[in-house]
Amino acid sequence: MKRLANFCAGPASMPTTVLQKAQAELLDWRGTGTSVMEISHRSADYIEIATKAEQDLRKLMGIGDDYAVLFLQGGAALQFSAIPLNLLNGGTADHLITGSWSQKAYTEAKRYESLGLGKINLVAQGDGTDVPSMDTWQLSDKATYFHYCPNETIHGVQIFETPKVDVPIVADFSSCILSTPIDVNDFGVIYAGAQKNIGPAGLTLVIIRKDLMEQASAWCPNIMNYKNQFDNDSMLNTPSTYAWYLSGLVFEWLLDNGGVDAIAKINRKKADLLYRTIDESDFYANKVNPQYRSIMNVPFQLADAALDKLFLEESKKAGLLNLKGHRVVGGMRASIYNAITLEQVQALVAFMKDFEQKHA
Ligand code: PMP
Repeated sequence: MKRLANFCAGPASMPTTVLQKAQAELLDWRGTGTSVMEISHRSADYIEIATKAEQDLRKLMGIGDDYAVLFLQGGAALQFSAIPLNLLNGGTADHLITGSWSQKAYTEAKRYESLGLGKINLVAQGDGTDVPSMDTWQLSDKATYFHYCPNETIHGVQIFETPKVDVPIVADFSSCILSTPIDVNDFGVIYAGAQKNIGPAGLTLVIIRKDLMEQASAWCPNIMNYKNQFDNDSMLNTPSTYAWYLSGLVFEWLLDNGGVDAIAKINRKKADLLYRTIDESDFYANKVNPQYRSIMNVPFQLADAALDKLFLEESKKAGLLNLKGHRVVGGMRASIYNAITLEQVQALVAFMKDFEQKHA
């Protein structure tokens, strides 16, 4: 069997043992004679899978009873609309832009101003390599919520400290959820597309403080209404059953391996090794302010962009896949989510040093 190191930004590498478990259970889940993807989401068997996944996630993140956990569809991108539709309620939302994803969330939310849903205020805008310092932020007097993206997947800009604002914080955790411990109580809403640290694409997690679910606009489609989804156990319609099941296996895998604290230590080691390699060389560069360098997505440029194509060909031959950077930033990007091992990052670093020696 050949499993190569896959540095794709998402859909991303899954833990091999999770895929093996899914494979072993694929045709006949626990003697039922069917696969999980062939059973009703209303069946007792499936409810058990769904409930267990939620319980395990609650354990991993320390999510209290005052928060709802929703397993939805539509990707994180649908949440760019769901959030104003559920929360804006005639007020003002403060948005911080630090890269492409928080920009998209802002642009989408802004569309709801013309529907009269409320106001969207741009607090500050970064250049994709830094985060504007808080003393420059133009916060509203009394915002309904504050939206930001703690990890910009494309730019590799991560905010490690939760912003100190005194309104509910809505955060797009798509590319950093479960990578490092956080205090859920600091947030009003945490949302994330699954296809990086959680499981396969097609599932979107929303963790929301229950008291914030009561103010949806009349414009909000029923299927996007948090309260309605909560009252119906995220099953207003057929959920992404198999993605939900696979995510449950990922949560079990994390718990079996020491939880978020343990994976965070490995993630830190992986990121430190990669950034050290970049910093110690004149051949590779990362432009992000070191204070905000992402531990999940590491963009880097080669000194001579004419070598990009060769770097990608050679790395692929060495079993290191999907290192091409996003077109917005160019160069390379290594996404080193939870399922990427330290050994795989060591292999990447060894390849980078070798490539530099040959071509610098
Ligand atoms: N936010 C962030 C931070 C992302 O990385 C992505 C996807 N790469 C999205 C939102 C959009 O997610 P989806 O494709 O699940 O809609």
